[in-house]
Amino acid sequence: MQSDASEFIDKVKLFLSQQAELYGDQMFISDQSTVVNEQSKDSDRPVQAESKNDDAQSEKTQAPHREADRDFTLKQKPQLKADEPSARKTIKVSEEAGLFDGAVLKTEWKIDPHWLDSSSLQELNSSISKCMKCALGSTRKNFVFGVGNPNAKLVLIGEAPGADEDEQGEPFVGRAGQLLNKILVAVQLRREEVYICNILKCRPPNNRDPLPDEVDSCEPFLKKQLEIIKPKLILCLGRIAGQTLLKTNATLSELRNNIYVYQGIRVLITFHPAALLRNPNWKRPAWEDVQKMKKMYDEI
Ligand code: URA
Repeated sequence: MQSDASEFIDKVKLFLSQQAELYGDQMFISDQSTVVNEQSKDSDRPVQAESKNDDAQSEKTQAPHREADRDFTLKQKPQLKADEPSARKTIKVSEEAGLFDGAVLKTEWKIDPHWLDSSSLQELNSSISKCMKCALGSTRKNFVFGVGNPNAKLVLIGEAPGADEDEQGEPFVGRAGQLLNKILVAVQLRREEVYICNILKCRPPNNRDPLPDEVDSCEPFLKKQLEIIKPKLILCLGRIAGQTLLKTNATLSELRNNIYVYQGIRVLITFHPAALLRNPNWKRPAWEDVQKMKKMYDEI
């Protein structure tokens, strides 16, 4: 018969291995609302890029940010030894630069000058939905504001509307959206329970990556949406969403498996559903990400 002590040790080992499985070997949130640090499992992961588009793209594609906008540091440990299982990284995100970043509101942008005073999503949508701040205003069919529970604990953020979304004015309604719905159901969440939106509210022609000035124009709207919803958790769908929130050029592999903070809200980053449609090998790591997300969601 096992002694009480060895039984206790076994239980502790089991508990620790479950924690390591879920969070990696290190996790903390700094006082300055910064990063949460975790194990990187790059060796277990696919290394190709993910993208909304079907064209293969390099993970090293430039992030949609000007050099001057970067307010983070990404520190990767020096070269790993061959037998060292993980790299540890710290991504530091400074306090918010403000919703409007000092820009002057121009009348030709067709944004209600009081948009920042909006107290509901509906009000915000009608204040900004005619936006002509960037060139996408003249090519879009519909402004794709966002959909879901205005009091959601969880906000899912994608990249930009595609053709179906542009047509219907709702995010994630095409094939990627159907997969997203299935993923949500698999963790006992419904689309109506969460809030879904994108970094960009208008479709870039041919689904190309958002340009830096488009991101700069649109991000204040996302910040205001988050200010109204006050979610506890954000799940970024894909590299572009992660890079935009964190102001980094890090690859998706580097961004996954960490917990970050944006506007005081915890952020996780996983694959874009369109990437999972193209590469089913990514479904398993994506499933692990989503389970971690659900565990955090349940604990909030
Ligand atoms: N891809 C996105 O990033 N967002 C959508 O709304 C649809 C596809």
